[in-house]
Amino acid sequence: MATPSDTQPIHVIGGGLAGSEAAWQIAEAGLPVTLHEMRPERMTEAHKTQGLAELVCSNSFRSDDAEANAVGLLHEEMRRANSLIMAAGDAHKLPAGGALAVDRENFSACVTERLGAHSLVKIVRGEIAGHPPQDWSSVIIATGPLTSPALSQAVRALTGEDELAFFDAIAPIVTKESINMDICWFQSRYDKTGPGGTGADYINCPLNEARYNAFIDALLAGEKTEFHQWEKDTPYFEGCLPIEVMAARGRETLRYGPMKPVGLTNSHDPGIKPYAIVQLRQDNALATLWNMVGFQTKLKYGAQTDIFRMIPGLETAVFARLGGLHRNTFLNSPKVLDESLRLRAEPRLRFAGQITGVEGYVESSAIGLLAGRFAAAEKLGRTAPPPPPTTAMGALINHITGGHLASEDASGARSFQPMNVNFGLFPPIERPKPKDGKRLRGKEKGHARKRALCARALADTDAWLGAPAREAAE
Ligand SMILES: Cc1cc2nc3c(=O)[nH]c(=O)nc-3n(C[C@H](O)[C@H](O)[C@H](O)COP(=O)(O)OP(=O)(O)OC[C@H]3O[C@@H](n4cnc5c(N)ncnc54)[C@H](O)[C@@H]3O)c2cc1C
Repeated sequence: MATPSDTQPIHVIGGGLAGSEAAWQIAEAGLPVTLHEMRPERMTEAHKTQGLAELVCSNSFRSDDAEANAVGLLHEEMRRANSLIMAAGDAHKLPAGGALAVDRENFSACVTERLGAHSLVKIVRGEIAGHPPQDWSSVIIATGPLTSPALSQAVRALTGEDELAFFDAIAPIVTKESINMDICWFQSRYDKTGPGGTGADYINCPLNEARYNAFIDALLAGEKTEFHQWEKDTPYFEGCLPIEVMAARGRETLRYGPMKPVGLTNSHDPGIKPYAIVQLRQDNALATLWNMVGFQTKLKYGAQTDIFRMIPGLETAVFARLGGLHRNTFLNSPKVLDESLRLRAEPRLRFAGQITGVEGYVESSAIGLLAGRFAAAEKLGRTAPPPPPTTAMGALINHITGGHLASEDASGARSFQPMNVNFGLFPPIERPKPKDGKRLRGKEKGHARKRALCARALADTDAWLGAPAREAAE
């Protein structure tokens, strides 16, 4: 058996969901790990206890359906990879239909106890208030969306000012196959090709005057969510104004902003100039996901689906994620992290959890699981191949470290925004042929595709987990 190249522990900063999972994976690989958690010495604005892996809001891990749901699939892959977070969740689940909901206090107590009882885990309470000490040779930073200001500043100094954000301004993301291309067309404004384009890089949805006015009325009337008091104190930029706030400033504001109809000709109807246009930009390398440009919003989720489906061409849109605007701390990961989650500028530092640009309890834990495995393998002098992109864990890490297209707006705003796991991140699969030879239609067809994606993912996860570790080449 390989032995560590040095006897120092791996240091994990942040005992939330990702940090707890990372520490567990390292200890289970037979290596010492020190987990640093600042609570209760210093609290965040959302945490209320000193327990590890505290759930700050809902108590749901979402769907537990591993046969046809992307997050349910992620649960199952993590269970197969010896996840502490999933084991604790399963041990303390509550009745919640098809979802995995947990008793939050017992869940957090279970994670705290199991880590505390592990002979290779040392838990140290206290804030890491700056650049991690230079003599820590391997560090995982998993300090989450509410990373303490002193550490965020240190990270920002390492990454450069523009590469660590304090707000996510998420525009809704739509699956390509749900967009009606009989109404929409491909074209870049003024057919500009730019550095990597073709002149036809955007999907455009045309609105006539009546449709535009109805859309503005719906935006103004739509139910909105409120900022938390502590979010109100975090400044955010004029460039990221929610669309409903822009609409409230004047009926024409959006027509002169993200919905301006200039430099575009509807190829289905070249003689008629649209009154306004919504543009969607490719969001992932697979071209399966498209984000609605400039459409960050604080509308409630139900209102978003109703209102955005009023846009011609998006009547049957499937949203891979809905829009939002929250206080968050996250890296421009496609640019600053390598494929094993190391900071390119200082590779002894790895990142895990929400700070890498995933969203959600389960996704954050999954990235913790991978960071822990990568750090342990590195210490043992081995290479740890990432999970295949056909798996939920692989699709997620691929998105944050390479799959996302790192484009920028004219304003300079970067397009990488936090993402939940969803089937749009997976490489396409050939539609399964029904055994009775009849063609599948509508919902049946979509369901069969999801089942095929899940079956492929679980088979590939098993192969990945069973793959023998290789000694790293010097
Ligand atoms: C208000 C809010 C509500 C959310 N609600 C949900 C929800 O309902 N469902 C969902 O799926 N996701 C939700 N999220 C998103 C996200 O999934 C969770 O925040 C999740 O906990 C992220 O996991 P993490 O491990 O990356 O960070 P966390 O779980 O937040 O863990 C980070 C840990 O690092 C510690 N820490 C921070 N700085 C330092 C430091 N300098 N030194 C030492 N320790 C430090 C913190 O105390 C914390 O324990 C929410 C996020 C927020 C902010």
